[in-house]
Amino acid sequence: MSRVLAVDVGGTTIKAEIVDESGAATASGTVPTPKGAAALDAVAGLGKQLIATAGGAAGTVAAGVVLPGIVDPARRMAVYSANIGWSDLDAGDLLERAWGIPVGVDHDVTCAGWAEWVSGAGQGCEDIAFVAIGTGISAAVVSGGRLLRGSGGRQPGEIGHVVVRPDGPMCGCGARGCLEAIASATSIARAYAEATGTAVPGALDVERAAAHDDRARKVWDEAVSALADGLTMLTALVAPERIVLGGGLAASGDFLLRPLAPLLAERVLVQPVPTLAQARHGTRAGLAGAALLARQQLALG
Ligand SMILES: [Zn+2]
Repeated sequence: MSRVLAVDVGGTTIKAEIVDESGAATASGTVPTPKGAAALDAVAGLGKQLIATAGGAAGTVAAGVVLPGIVDPARRMAVYSANIGWSDLDAGDLLERAWGIPVGVDHDVTCAGWAEWVSGAGQGCEDIAFVAIGTGISAAVVSGGRLLRGSGGRQPGEIGHVVVRPDGPMCGCGARGCLEAIASATSIARAYAEATGTAVPGALDVERAAAHDDRARKVWDEAVSALADGLTMLTALVAPERIVLGGGLAASGDFLLRPLAPLLAERVLVQPVPTLAQARHGTRAGLAGAALLARQQLALG
């Protein structure tokens, strides 16, 4: 049975698994993500360790590595990540030398959306949008049964940097009022801390506090409303049959889907209103996508 190595590089943690043909993990490991180019060395080290435990390169036949930020899948380059602090790294060559097996490199959200389409909450749909809400917000789009790509194979769904509140807070990208400056998990926690002077560990704490704290309710409602506007724009552009919500903020139940659905129904006036679903792979969607990417390397031969 042929096994592949799947790696999901996040801003804080690198997750890796050896995956068999049924999609089950036979070995797994995580390490913290170092800053800068050292992050890629950490990926190489973790992968090497897992390949060794799975019987060496004879047992693991290909690898898929998904990265945040800007990625060039054709050249297998980590072009830029503000979170990790790297730019223009030849990830594919470096990892292929380290592991001695074919390596595919692609964008984390694109591959997570691919996995949700193939075997998750978007299975059976020709047209879906997958929206990951975590420290940032971005999307993958499947249109007419094909994963949408931008110029140079890049990720087209940077919905987090669509301006939904022109007078809103500054975004890390330099613009004002971007969707992710209001509705990302990071921004929700920050807005609550600014409004109350009390820091909270994360956005889910704001959602929980909203039941009894008006200031939390206001922050949460504003984030959900901004998200509904972002998804309305996405629907106007690509008319998905279903929108699958993933990432850390969507992983903990339907508290996000419940208020979003009526807002979307109210605001989507031209296109059919898409159904909303929670990602089936949860926070493992990136790894599931990395495994698909690895299998694709075998098909490319
Ligand atoms: Zn922005």
